[in-house]
Amino acid sequence: AFCSVTIFPHCRYVRVNTLKTSVADTVDYLKREGFTYLGQARTVEDLTLKGTHFVQDMDIPEILIFSPKTDFHNHFLYKAGHLILQDKASCLPAHVLHPPPGSVVLDACAAPGNKTSHLAALMENRGRLLALDLDAKRLSTMSTLLLRAGVTCQTLRHQDFLKVDPQSAEYREVEYILLDPSCSGSGMVCLRDDSDTDPARLSSLAAFQLKCLKHALSFPRVNRLVYSTCSVHRQENEDVVSACLQENNHFRLVPVLPQWPEHGLPPLSQCLRASPSSTRTHGFFVAMLQRHSETEPMEP
Ligand code: SAM
Repeated sequence: AFCSVTIFPHCRYVRVNTLKTSVADTVDYLKREGFTYLGQARTVEDLTLKGTHFVQDMDIPEILIFSPKTDFHNHFLYKAGHLILQDKASCLPAHVLHPPPGSVVLDACAAPGNKTSHLAALMENRGRLLALDLDAKRLSTMSTLLLRAGVTCQTLRHQDFLKVDPQSAEYREVEYILLDPSCSGSGMVCLRDDSDTDPARLSSLAAFQLKCLKHALSFPRVNRLVYSTCSVHRQENEDVVSACLQENNHFRLVPVLPQWPEHGLPPLSQCLRASPSSTRTHGFFVAMLQRHSETEPMEP
């Protein structure tokens, strides 16, 4: 089978870190350096970029998009924390959750922290951002990354999310949760065939993801939760969300980005999927759940 990434080459996405700069200042800087700005993209077709051309994303305004070979690893704006090198798909969870400044937010599986730094930018560094991870090494990478990004509202914890007591003083005020648990990563690589993924591993990942999602919904004040994976497998995505909602009638799915071209597999059309062919990103899945009391009454 052909690799879809070869047919639809990825663009180079960067996220402007609004804790340090603005999109307008970044665009001006890059224009002075010789890049050519073509304005805001309107469709996926506008993302076919050549040479030094770049555009602003049509869905997430703080994303700038460059031709696939553009490399910012040695660029001053990257080293200074003004630009975060992050695929558009991986910017979706924080963008969709969009916690306001001053809110109490939990990033449950946070390292290495690109989504945490995006959450902090949306919160304008105001409020409380609790970020956990089980892996000490990844947490230490995360500390460096957050420092460079100018994030100051975070509390990092080396902790198993499943062992956190939702009723404890530190966690009971949490209103927003981003849950991006370990997954098969099948959206990130160019697999020849999806069946390459070991079924036993998939089942065990799905069981872990479901446990995490159920645990996340048990936080007493949580109103909104975003569940995301970089997997293309239904078992880790729609099936996890459906199984959780079957047991929990206090939350419902809310539609994410109605203009987005690819939705969750039926019947979960409120969720979003991303892929190299439809959105020129990695394969990705995003679901947003909201507590009923905050929305209109449930349909009978
Ligand atoms: N959200 C991260 C980001 O954007 O940089 C990526 C998260 S990665 C997909 C999943 C993370 O979950 C890994 O860093 C892993 O160490 C962590 N993890 C796995 N099991 C966990 C648990 N029980 N509690 C907390 N973190 C866990």
